[in-house]
Amino acid sequence: MIKFHGYAEYLLSDAIPEDKKSILDKAINELNNDFLLRGAKKRDEAARITSFKLSRNKLILEIESGSRVRLHHAALRIKNYLSNMLGKNMRIGVRGLRLYRSRITIDSILHVSTQLPFVKNVYTENSKTIIELKDLSESDIKRPIIDRLLKLLEFKEKKLKWGGKIEHWRLIRESEKKEPKFRDDPNIILEKIGWIKRYAPGQWLYTPPITHLIRSFEKLFYMEVLKPLGFIEAIYPKINPLEIGVKTGHLKGTVHQMMFASQPIAYNPEDLEEWTDLVTVLDEAPADELRKYVKAPSYFLCFAQCEPFYWFFGGEIIDIDKLPMKWFDRSGPSFRWESGGLRGIERLVEFHRTEITWIGEPEQVIEIRNQLLEKYRYFMDKILDLEWRWAWVTPWFLVHAGEIEEETEEIDINQPGTIDFEAWLPYKGDREEQNTWLEIGNISIHGTKYTSSFKIKHQVKDKIIWTGCSGFGVERWLLSFLAQKGFDPDNWPKRVREFITRPPKSVRTVTYPKTKEGKQLLNEIEELLSKLPGD
Ligand code: ATP
Ligand code: ZN
Ligand code: MG
Repeated sequence: MIKFHGYAEYLLSDAIPEDKKSILDKAINELNNDFLLRGAKKRDEAARITSFKLSRNKLILEIESGSRVRLHHAALRIKNYLSNMLGKNMRIGVRGLRLYRSRITIDSILHVSTQLPFVKNVYTENSKTIIELKDLSESDIKRPIIDRLLKLLEFKEKKLKWGGKIEHWRLIRESEKKEPKFRDDPNIILEKIGWIKRYAPGQWLYTPPITHLIRSFEKLFYMEVLKPLGFIEAIYPKINPLEIGVKTGHLKGTVHQMMFASQPIAYNPEDLEEWTDLVTVLDEAPADELRKYVKAPSYFLCFAQCEPFYWFFGGEIIDIDKLPMKWFDRSGPSFRWESGGLRGIERLVEFHRTEITWIGEPEQVIEIRNQLLEKYRYFMDKILDLEWRWAWVTPWFLVHAGEIEEETEEIDINQPGTIDFEAWLPYKGDREEQNTWLEIGNISIHGTKYTSSFKIKHQVKDKIIWTGCSGFGVERWLLSFLAQKGFDPDNWPKRVREFITRPPKSVRTVTYPKTKEGKQLLNEIEELLSKLPGD
């Protein structure tokens, strides 16, 4: 049960003459017995004006309401009614509306923070939660702030029951155990031999030999998985306007991991001259000062990588014979703020991914996901020969979007949800330990999460469209391969050994790689890799 109480103040274009005031009694009667009942089955679900006060051109109504005709909807309905009535009878208009001292009473104990937007105060009384709101303007009322706030409360309660976890993890499939051919940490080796050099935390410059391996992995994945299934390449933008992140939900759910970009305050160099002078004199760029010369961020950097795909079909009506559509993008990096969790090429701020996206009728989207799963399994098992496992993770974002209700005992993977692919990293320790495994990729069915927020329509009325996506994070696939198989091609599975050609020359200068040990190790690894076929 939910109840609302509050005061609506209507600003009139003129005062109501003394001798006409009785018209208000009649109006309130009519509102209470007709207009404010519409849409409610029972009286206590409707709204009601319980008192009023008129002082010059201000009319203040005290309103209480139930769940069907909520306070703010009632206030707007009353405004329409008054505009009509006062206009016709006295040529008085209603100029503005404001809601104040509004209160929402909910019949249970909720965990509501006063930090929420528009919330002034919260307390509990007799097992009820009372939320006092800040003043709301007419545009807030119309947006509708109160409805969204209530949705947010419901969402927060659900999240609390969900256990505060991002996702629930359940094993669905695993490979046989495979004796690792290697135990060392490739992250350390790659840096030691100078194949990668740290540019900034979580960012590396990949020199030609490792770039060759990264590109070879991308190509192999394309040849073995994407090409046979008919996926075709597109190029997606890599910085996204903020409104895209509102529609995908990322700006609500993962904002703590996102990176942002801003424009300068002006295009004219003279407008930035003070800054230019400062950098010239200091010979450094103080970030705090820079703040004054850039606008507030209006983009977020590529995060999920599939955002532009949904945007592209947004607002379009798609005919049946064009479905499904299967595209992928590998045109640029993704960015994540991983805070303290950075390590080698395992957890990066800037990483590279082939992002696979598809759209179709629900059965098609499931079918494509299943075909991809089959190919992924073949790729992990037969091509790379990895020790892997898959988990059904019910991501919180799908519960949030209302795509799935609760967790069930039985796992049905043919519904919206995500499967994570993980590989064992022997250098991290025993395979029985949870933290020795790394997520290398995943595959999701989103149901209508994106097709509804981007308004993607099926040509046939009442039919719906679903989407799916899958991310192949190439640094992590390469890392897990090197971690299990090492740098000796004799220990690599046949297809990889034949597919990857000899990497180009490594960088060697007087001072690089940094250590004697690194130089020595580089010689050994180059010797091993010279077993690979030439181009
Ligand atoms: P984790 O649980 O390891 O943080 P995630 O759940 O954040 O991973 P997703 O958001 O599902 O990862 O991203 C899809 C894929 O992108 C991952 O499977 C991985 O291959 C890659 N990826 C994600 N974050 C990173 C990162 N910080 N560095 C390198 N690759 C990453
Ligand atoms: Zn995606
Ligand atoms: Mg993560």
